[in-house]
Amino acid sequence: MDIYKELGVKTLINCAGTYTIIGGSKMSENTLEAMNQAARYHVVIKDLQQKIYVELAKMTHNEAARVTAGAMAGVYITIATCISKKFNKPLRYISKEDISKCEVIIHRAHRNPYDRGLETLGVKLVELGYPNNINPVTEEEFGYAFSEHTVAVLYLPSCNGGWVPPGALDLGSVIKISQKHDVPVVVDAAAQLPPKSNFWNFTEAGASAVCFSGGKDIRGPQTTGLVLGKKSLLDYFDANNFPVYGIGRMYKVGREELAGIYCAVKEYMEKDEDAFRERCEKVVRTYIASFSKKMAFSFERSWPNEAGQSIARLKMIINKEGVTPEMIKNDLSSCERSIFTMVENGSLYINPQMMSDEETDYVKDQLLLIVKKY
Ligand SMILES: *Cc1c(COP(=O)(O)O)cnc(C)c1O
Repeated sequence: MDIYKELGVKTLINCAGTYTIIGGSKMSENTLEAMNQAARYHVVIKDLQQKIYVELAKMTHNEAARVTAGAMAGVYITIATCISKKFNKPLRYISKEDISKCEVIIHRAHRNPYDRGLETLGVKLVELGYPNNINPVTEEEFGYAFSEHTVAVLYLPSCNGGWVPPGALDLGSVIKISQKHDVPVVVDAAAQLPPKSNFWNFTEAGASAVCFSGGKDIRGPQTTGLVLGKKSLLDYFDANNFPVYGIGRMYKVGREELAGIYCAVKEYMEKDEDAFRERCEKVVRTYIASFSKKMAFSFERSWPNEAGQSIARLKMIINKEGVTPEMIKNDLSSCERSIFTMVENGSLYINPQMMSDEETDYVKDQLLLIVKKY
């Protein structure tokens, strides 16, 4: 707290969700303590990595695990690893010309700002389909996308909708066809937690690797990510990663973050997901009951949340002309304790996912004061 005072940066109550622009999630005291302890001693990084990788693989029911500096870095190094697998050598021994011929298959419905990393890597993206319902990709069409240069298929699951549009072939068929071509399927599931069973759902279905963000619902350090998957692919990972002088050196994960994500995943596996989901439902019910349609704004239940996570949140309904979601967003932001919300597609949302009980009450009280103004 004092560091933010010293710097004059205001702290926020997070009513938006696991948005990276405000720091994603908060680490537990245990995780912070693990990071502190890790910082106090020197260790051989490779030894620490290997121990933590084995434990993470065990906990998440996977053959292998790696820690990266976020999910985007995870996708980047994993695709580099797919290239290494194809050429059977570390990326730094593969010429730029050879890398530029490598092809990664991706549905247009799955293109997103996070895949820009692949352009940096220099591979060719082979796009197929359209980001809508008009002409969904068929098995036959998907099969045509493969060539002798294909190194991977990158896939974004849209578990409950979220922001991924329709138009892609389903993951099961993608895996079946990719396996016939002996091409690894890499799943970007950065925000697809909960449920924690997604740690193994995609890889059990046959994906070679799945990438998660450590700083979203897992509540690990914001600068971490997980790559979970098959040994046959991830055995090629370390030659490209820190502490070797591979491209992964740009995405260094220190011993503190390694300890932090290990501790956070351990806690995540013990978390009672049903109780957490019910807690969010309770917040939603309480807010709905506290505001009536006669007031300038009221609330309704919205599901799933912005990332497609199976957690309920509140959608604000404006009942009075002239009142805009942006006005309420500004009012909330200027409260004595600044409240951060998101306006999406013209509606303001309150997401209880990262709110403490005390913050839940504070925000409701502030909203009840604000609603009287209009
Ligand atoms: C959040 C997100 C990422 C980036 O995760 P970081 O851990 O911040 O790198 C990548 N892909 C998707 C689909 C995401 O939602």
